[in-house]
Amino acid sequence: MNDPRPSLYDLDRSAIGSVLAELDEPAYRARQVWRWLYRAFVDDPHAMTDLPTQLRDALAEKVTGSTIRPLRSEDAEDGLAVKWLFGLRDGQSIESVLMHYVDPADEDEIVPGEVPHGRHTVCFSTQAGCAMGCVFCATGQMGLLRDLGRGECIEQIVFAARHLAASGERLSHVVFMGMGEPLANWPATRGVIETLIDRDGFAMSPRRLTVSTVGIVPGIHRLKELGLPVRLAVSLHAADDALRSELVAVNQVYGLDAILAACRAYQIALGRRITFEYVLIRDRNDDLSQARALAKRLTGIHAHVNLIPLNPTAGSPMRPSRYDTAAAFADELRAAGIPTTLRMRRGIEIQAGCGQLRARDQEGLVGRTIPLTLHESPPNAQEIDRDE
Ligand code: SF4
Repeated sequence: MNDPRPSLYDLDRSAIGSVLAELDEPAYRARQVWRWLYRAFVDDPHAMTDLPTQLRDALAEKVTGSTIRPLRSEDAEDGLAVKWLFGLRDGQSIESVLMHYVDPADEDEIVPGEVPHGRHTVCFSTQAGCAMGCVFCATGQMGLLRDLGRGECIEQIVFAARHLAASGERLSHVVFMGMGEPLANWPATRGVIETLIDRDGFAMSPRRLTVSTVGIVPGIHRLKELGLPVRLAVSLHAADDALRSELVAVNQVYGLDAILAACRAYQIALGRRITFEYVLIRDRNDDLSQARALAKRLTGIHAHVNLIPLNPTAGSPMRPSRYDTAAAFADELRAAGIPTTLRMRRGIEIQAGCGQLRARDQEGLVGRTIPLTLHESPPNAQEIDRDE
């Protein structure tokens, strides 16, 4: 816990180069180390067998391997997701979810607890807790505990990739949609993006990355300025500022007009369709007047709306919308020409509500078979592919 050494995953390529330069090593060593970290998912310098033994020892004195530790895992009952709770060096805990998308013809082959053949998306956390204050979210109820470091973010993704590699599978997509607001922790978010697209590592297309935000306007502009076609997902949850400020406290800082203007600018610059997430809460934001107002607000944006009936958190009186209400809301948007997906099943059963495993761990409830739940619904692999 008091180890002052940085994790190798805390360091970007040039920082790894600087550490090696201090050890009088040639520049090409940085590439070797990088490939161990992000191609082979090996984080122990002693196991980097193409480095001289003396260098391995010297490196291990300066840096650590992975710092996050898996504390718990839960498999979805249908075998299409696994959720991990990780402990951090300072005792905080965070969650990640790995979701599997299989060809329907192969669904009979799925064995819960085993990795199926298919496409795989990891959803990882960028903060311990969250300051955005969404009233329906378990993480939001904790408040912000702290930002995660670059390494703590990347290590969640490497952990998932290593888990897949053990079954001969590869990570296909990454969504920045776990605990926390990724655009409120920009240094780590940018570091993760740059690492994932590096050709000597994951070599992922930016099109396979989705950054989800509750609407941090300067952050949307920063993401745009990277100039990479990263998918942007914006959580709206209401179509007028009064209601949205009740549901999402940060709306009092960044209102709907500013958020949607930033989305338009992002779309003009990057040419990407934007996903809008909308959690449907019974009798709070599921009235058809909200659907009509939402359609009006999205006019002129190449948009896709994901409607996700609320995943209730313990102790909250809020309930998910009834199916008929949710379906009518979706129909209203579609009638206005907005492509809309209503995520009744997967959103509730599989994709794992951020903060809920951590909350249950603190209540001593983990270890039972509890269906995974999610506050938001990452876009599935098929949708992402259509947009590539
Ligand atoms: S829904 Fe997302 S942005 Fe809102 S409080 Fe939860 S983690 Fe934060």
